[in-house]
Amino acid sequence: MSAAISPPAQLPSWLQTISEVVVDPSVRTTPLAARVRERLPHVRWTVLDEDGAVPAWGQEEQVVYLKHYKGRFLRFCPGTKAYRCCGYRIVHIGENCPLSCSYCILQAYFQDRMLKVWANQEDLYTELDRAFAANPDKRYRLGTGEFTDSLALEPLTGYSRDLVDFLGRYPNVCLELKSKVIDLSWMTAVRDPRRVLPAWSLNAPAIHEEQEHRTSTLTERLEAARECVRHGFRVCLHFDPIIRYPGWETGYDRIVDMIFEYLRPADIAYMSLGSFRCMPELKSIIDRRHPQARYIYDEFITGADDKLRLLRPLRVEQFRRIVSRLQKWGMREQLYFCMESDTVWQQVFGYTPRQLGGLQNHLLRRSFGEESDAL
Ligand code: SF4
Repeated sequence: MSAAISPPAQLPSWLQTISEVVVDPSVRTTPLAARVRERLPHVRWTVLDEDGAVPAWGQEEQVVYLKHYKGRFLRFCPGTKAYRCCGYRIVHIGENCPLSCSYCILQAYFQDRMLKVWANQEDLYTELDRAFAANPDKRYRLGTGEFTDSLALEPLTGYSRDLVDFLGRYPNVCLELKSKVIDLSWMTAVRDPRRVLPAWSLNAPAIHEEQEHRTSTLTERLEAARECVRHGFRVCLHFDPIIRYPGWETGYDRIVDMIFEYLRPADIAYMSLGSFRCMPELKSIIDRRHPQARYIYDEFITGADDKLRLLRPLRVEQFRRIVSRLQKWGMREQLYFCMESDTVWQQVFGYTPRQLGGLQNHLLRRSFGEESDAL
């Protein structure tokens, strides 16, 4: 088909600029490939040669790559021993994201910007079945939002819908779908809403407006969260990265208050807070690609994980203000820090993950809907 044909009107704005789809020959006849082809009838479609090299595209071009993935689909989150990690397991479904947040860590993780989708879903299912069916008494908290946004490509691929349908067979598994866009098309494939946690990342309105491009608005995300609650789901929220900018105090006050215009604390399974941190090489990438991102010139030190992070007193000051406002609205054991030390937990919450029975166990219990009286 000619590249001059316009994209279908129903494609969301963040997918309208896709210019090409390339496919590994072994996955070209999969249901997923057929779906993408049907939903992108206007773009060039190239089947790669067996063992052929993948051509290089410019940073500005949006190209989808339907790949036969040969690595491990089920992974541990790449946390570090130096800080408290939430310990969730990643279901690896692809790499990169069509949205454009200035702070996005994927810019440093991956050399190219191709929107890679692991199209050999049967291999994924085989690996997951081997893990979950062999351990029916073990519970798993999974997520797909580590190396991509869980829902940004959903209108093309239907991947999350396929996954919730497949995972519905395993009552010992809870899946978090983390996003900054709205797509609820997966919802009707869910067998048990207690085993799927739709999740949205939120930020101060000024950070959203200046640093998160192509994403849904904060109001749209909260409306979607409320819609999920109406359908029997609990949701997760994430404040990550929390950024220091002039006026951050009122900005974060505002987004905290907004949350409770749409949700009650009981609707929220858990909520993370994470201060902006980055590998040193990400700083120069942000500087080059996002000149409006002045927050990279704040007061950083190199942490125990070799990432740049804000000085601890500055992090604690921000956390204290945000946590205290969340607590006023009734949030308590739902709150946790992403990658912080016991010292910071103690200074802000007055307790450490140990008093919750360990962060991983605590979040696992919360994801399965169990209340705790640890505090
Ligand atoms: S939505 Fe997430 S994955 Fe996508 S660009 Fe923003 S930070 Fe990166």
